Amino acid sequence: MGQLIKVKSISHLTHDVLRIRLEKPQTLTFCPGQAADISINKLGWTDKLRAFTFTSLPGDDDLEFSIKTYPERQGVTNQLLSLVPGDELILHDVFGAIAYKGEGLFIAGGAGVTPFIAIFRQLDKEGKIGNNRLLFANKTSADIIEDAYFSKLLGDHFVNVLSEEELPGYEHGYITEKILRKYMDTQLPYIYLCGPDPMMDAIQSTLHALGVHESAIIREEF
Ligand SMILES: Cc1cc2nc3c(=O)[nH]c(=O)nc-3n(C[C@H](O)[C@H](O)[C@H](O)COP(=O)(O)OP(=O)(O)OC[C@H]3O[C@@H](n4cnc5c(N)ncnc54)[C@H](O)[C@@H]3O)c2cc1C
Repeated sequence: MGQLIKVKSISHLTHDVLRIRLEKPQTLTFCPGQAADISINKLGWTDKLRAFTFTSLPGDDDLEFSIKTYPERQGVTNQLLSLVPGDELILHDVFGAIAYKGEGLFIAGGAGVTPFIAIFRQLDKEGKIGNNRLLFANKTSADIIEDAYFSKLLGDHFVNVLSEEELPGYEHGYITEKILRKYMDTQLPYIYLCGPDPMMDAIQSTLHALGVHESAIIREEF
């Protein structure tokens, strides 16, 4: 059994992404980019564990998650839609493969941006944004999580790629070799990659074909 954590507030970040703030257990430690297994403290849901990434920083007073919901799956994220302040989640193990190692090109698909929200917030707090870049793939502009924050923080180093919408100032389609060539910078030692399986596999093969060494790629599948 994990730790009970109480919901303080719940709101919509986009049409299908929730931002949930919770009371933070005093003993909890994690690194920006890490996730935890979470379940809901309601009858029938306590043993249904799903992984979500902390989008708050370790030093913040509250815990925060940014969660894309899939009502059609009738699973945990659908249940989260009916949470109200005072409800409880159960925090299980903390884990995660993504941690900041140095400047890089961050490539995210949809909710795969969540570890990067925490990492960029930490860099922002330390004044170390430097040359880091974010390439963010979504279906439409309405799906972009933290659009205003990343635009302000990164300026031209924030590039959106939309597969189902054509807009000026946005790349259109999937993240192809052409797009990777355009935004990769040989000065950046690392590529951080997080998103759904098919996107990750396609991009990883392209990166290998472009000569990027496996050790330069830091990845996590969602
Ligand atoms: C390390 C890690 C960190 C993560 N962090 C975050 C985060 O911060 N924010 C976030 O939003 N997500 C995050 N995810 C993804 C998140 O864990 C999943 O979106 C979540 O588990 C979905 O749970 P669910 O119960 O709603 O649906 P699921 O458990 O995915 O699905 C429930 C049921 O629906 C059916 N189903 C599954 N997939 C599909 C599909 N593609 N189409 C139709 N039916 C399907 C299956 O029958 C399945 O049993 C993370 C994942 C990992 C591995």
